[in-house]
Amino acid sequence: MEVIKITPRGYCYGVVDAIQMAKQVAQEPAYPRPIHILGLIVHNRHVVESLEKEYGIISLDGPDRLSLLDQITEGTVIFTAHGVSPAVKAKAKEKGLVCIDATCPDVTRTHELIRDLAGKGYQIIYIGKRGHPEPEGAMGEAPGRVHLVENEEDVDRLQLGDGPVAVTTQTTLSQWDTEELIEYIRSRYPNVLVYNEICFATQARQEAAVTQAKDADLVLVVGDVRSNNSNRLVQVVRERAGRPAYLIDSVNEIDLRWLKGARRVAVTSGSSTPTHLTREVIEFLEALDPDQVDLMAAKA
Ligand code: SF4
Repeated sequence: MEVIKITPRGYCYGVVDAIQMAKQVAQEPAYPRPIHILGLIVHNRHVVESLEKEYGIISLDGPDRLSLLDQITEGTVIFTAHGVSPAVKAKAKEKGLVCIDATCPDVTRTHELIRDLAGKGYQIIYIGKRGHPEPEGAMGEAPGRVHLVENEEDVDRLQLGDGPVAVTTQTTLSQWDTEELIEYIRSRYPNVLVYNEICFATQARQEAAVTQAKDADLVLVVGDVRSNNSNRLVQVVRERAGRPAYLIDSVNEIDLRWLKGARRVAVTSGSSTPTHLTREVIEFLEALDPDQVDLMAAKA
């Protein structure tokens, strides 16, 4: 099978740094034990499992960072690349925990922007995904002033008064969806200040996926089901390149029926996906004989 290896793909700088930081902390005996990560350092279970198995780092998963902290009584706590609110940092300090902040610099920039806008009296519309840790941290920078919206209906429900309004975004959204929603917000608030904070890594991966998918019969995106940027890759390939796309956690999730009739498959991966998982998928596909696949798929 011919494989188009979409580039760029996979780990972004924020993820590489966060994982590296966690490993360094685990290798340094001066940091008090136990070492916990507040949430999943990145949304990929393979990364989380390997940090626990090889480095003894415990990842806590749960609804919100503030209540997760109740589970930690001592030692070191690592904040993830998604960022945390000032309330979380303050509570961790009060508990006497040693804090390591692995927030991606791109997320930190959005937090600074929110603080700055809130200080100037703006109401801030934040386009993001409900339940994801990144909006949770960003909203905590200016409680009551940051309003999370996912769609036009959410925008319609807002009651922001007469003061100045700004809009900003989560870093890992679909850039095309976001543009449409920003246009809608502009139609409701003509003087809105717009700060599109989708990070460069996300944009570059989405643009590459859409452009390079056009030469493929279908696209496989390697990533965790909880990874927002991986899910957005599937979405933009389907909607913008008009190609079938499937999210797979690893090579084991490939369904041969998807490959029936396919001669060229494109592969990409989310920014939290370990490189070896994508390599295994590519090697598996390259070893496949398309005619054999058609036969096998017909029998399946
Ligand atoms: S996806 Fe973007 S914002 Fe998130 S960790 Fe990577 S570079 Fe940072």
